[in-house]
Amino acid sequence: MNGYAGKILRVNLSENRIWTEEPPASFYRRYLGGQGFIAHYLVKELPAGVDPLGPDNLLIFATGTITGVPVAGSGRSAVGCKSPLTGGYGEADVGGFFGAELKQAGYDAVVVQGKADKPVYLWIHNGEVELRSAEHLWGKTTLDTQEMIQSELNDSRVRLAMIGPGGEKLVRYACVINDLKHAAGRTGVGAVMGSKNLKAVAARGTPQVPLADADGVRELGRWMAANWKELAWGLHDTGTDGGLVDLSEFGALPTRNFQDGQFEGAEEITGSTMRDTILTDRGGCYACPIRCKRVVKVDDDEYKVNPEYGGPEYETVGAFGSNCGVDDLRAISKANEICNAYSLDTISTGMMVSFAMECYEEGLLSKERADGLELNF
Ligand code: SF4
Repeated sequence: MNGYAGKILRVNLSENRIWTEEPPASFYRRYLGGQGFIAHYLVKELPAGVDPLGPDNLLIFATGTITGVPVAGSGRSAVGCKSPLTGGYGEADVGGFFGAELKQAGYDAVVVQGKADKPVYLWIHNGEVELRSAEHLWGKTTLDTQEMIQSELNDSRVRLAMIGPGGEKLVRYACVINDLKHAAGRTGVGAVMGSKNLKAVAARGTPQVPLADADGVRELGRWMAANWKELAWGLHDTGTDGGLVDLSEFGALPTRNFQDGQFEGAEEITGSTMRDTILTDRGGCYACPIRCKRVVKVDDDEYKVNPEYGGPEYETVGAFGSNCGVDDLRAISKANEICNAYSLDTISTGMMVSFAMECYEEGLLSKERADGLELNF
């Protein structure tokens, strides 16, 4: 089946059982990939009324139709489940390299059910699959987890989808972090991963995705390489945070827990300011020349931010910046680093902080209950 690995990996953690399905072409034509795969398995197999953090929930890592094909945009993949945050359909999309590596390792999707007795991680390499102990990784940040798994697998190019302590402790807005800086952020997919005692999925593959028209794909890649600067220079230059001042001027920038739409500190936290101050590099996703992701470093008396964790995108700057009344990119970047290390969704975490701040200012949350903090905007 061109464009696909042709296999779905099934894992039952309660039974320590792994098997492979090879769906017919009609499955791929009908559901395509990503959201389609996730919706299919949730609707078909999830029992009604299932506890999102119980063993019967499914956790699905799904690649898309062109994931792993060498053209821009093909680094994206999705993670889905019944959401512990909403009780409904849960899905989070993510960039980076894990999705492409998973398909190249031999699988279009991984469907996980059950709960392991003890923490484990899944190791998928060129069609081979094994469950390995993660007891020594439980409680570790994502950076420590990545370093330890790559070290024990003796391959620094292993790509990881993983959780930190936020997912382990079942924070309902915990996310899944790919490669330290790409977040499947929304709907609590990281909490479901933690509920299954699944610390990480590690993938490494070498086979190319089969293509019906390899020359056509190469031609498309060449066209993108020649034209991306004209099409998307702004995204590369100032990132997804580049339009923040415009949003503020339109009155559409989340500010002080959505009490305002304009933020007086917008210039201080916009993408061009980040570029001119703390940006040290740009990162991207598999086969994409645009490289819209930020890499920041801070090393001063007040803040230290590790560039291994990337840098904040627009949503993170909006959540921890304007919506908390903060106009300091160093502080926002520190919050981004902590969330990526602990696998917490930066949007929900920032919104939770801004909500607490408004509650504090309205007298609904006391200083004592705020652990002695003065939560003023
Ligand atoms: S680097 Fe940016 S533009 Fe390119 S695929 Fe990733 S998210 Fe999209």
